[in-house]
Amino acid sequence: MANHIVVVGSLNMDLVVRTQRHPQIGETVIGYDFRTYPGGKGANQAVAAARLGGRVKMIGRVGGDQFGNELLQTVTNAGVDTAYVMEDKQAPSGVAFITVDDLGKNTIVVASGANARLSPDDIASAEETFMGASVLLLQLECPLVAVEYAIHLARKHHLQIVLNPAPAQLLDAELLGQVDYLIPNQTELALLSGQETPEVAIEVLGGLGVKKIVVTLGDQGVLVVEGDRFEKITAYKVPVVDTTSAGDAFAGAFAVALTEGLSIWKAARWGNAAGAMTVMRAGAQPSLPMRDEFHRFLSQT
Ligand code: ADP
Repeated sequence: MANHIVVVGSLNMDLVVRTQRHPQIGETVIGYDFRTYPGGKGANQAVAAARLGGRVKMIGRVGGDQFGNELLQTVTNAGVDTAYVMEDKQAPSGVAFITVDDLGKNTIVVASGANARLSPDDIASAEETFMGASVLLLQLECPLVAVEYAIHLARKHHLQIVLNPAPAQLLDAELLGQVDYLIPNQTELALLSGQETPEVAIEVLGGLGVKKIVVTLGDQGVLVVEGDRFEKITAYKVPVVDTTSAGDAFAGAFAVALTEGLSIWKAARWGNAAGAMTVMRAGAQPSLPMRDEFHRFLSQT
């Protein structure tokens, strides 16, 4: 059986209001629908990997509130080991306030809550999680000090480190140089490198010690780079319903492929298929594919 994946990351409740149009500052508008969806990049990627058959252990924090219970429950129900998702009585659970208008345009405000309190000590207390694991999967919705400590433990226990640098933020060369696989989208790639053109941006990051980069290009597919070798994989032509969590599906599938011993090229193909399947369905976690349908999709394409 493949070794497990450690996900260190965020859990947020998405609070989504539909409205004909966004309010101006100081204005109130009446919307027409409200729903809550479990989300957060860490939780989404953990669920994505578990649905595809990966063994996943998550480290994170939820608040000691109703949202926290629900977040924990949905991730656990997907088969993720949540022994180290701590309940923080001092903070509310992370939430994302999202408004979507009739043109499909959204505004999002995230209040990180308990996620912002994930500490190096939390990661240290979960060190046993890293033992026998093969992949550490990270994003940037938790404090950088926690991410850095997770990288430290991953190196100590010889895990492959996969970083999805989202939401985009500048990172120093020391951290980047320790990452085995960097999976940015185009915006994140540009911000990290200070370069708009992907080829130039990749060269800049290569100079900082990042040798394996997988750039997700939305409906344009994926650009895979390992050392001097480049490959562009075209996206599947699929009917698009909702692109939310395509990047999370990609990262989760990529990590599972690595635990199964597949190459970066094959892992990127898994990501490309999982991303495409996710955009065909609504919602974040509900749209993430299950192992059987995923392998059927892969074998038919
Ligand atoms: P993010 O959601 O992080 O911005 P992307 O939009 O780049 O990430 O999407 C991640 C991956 O999901 C893409 O590289 C691609 O494989 C797949 N994907 C995204 N949008 C589409 C689409 N419209 N059609 C087919 N595949 C898509």
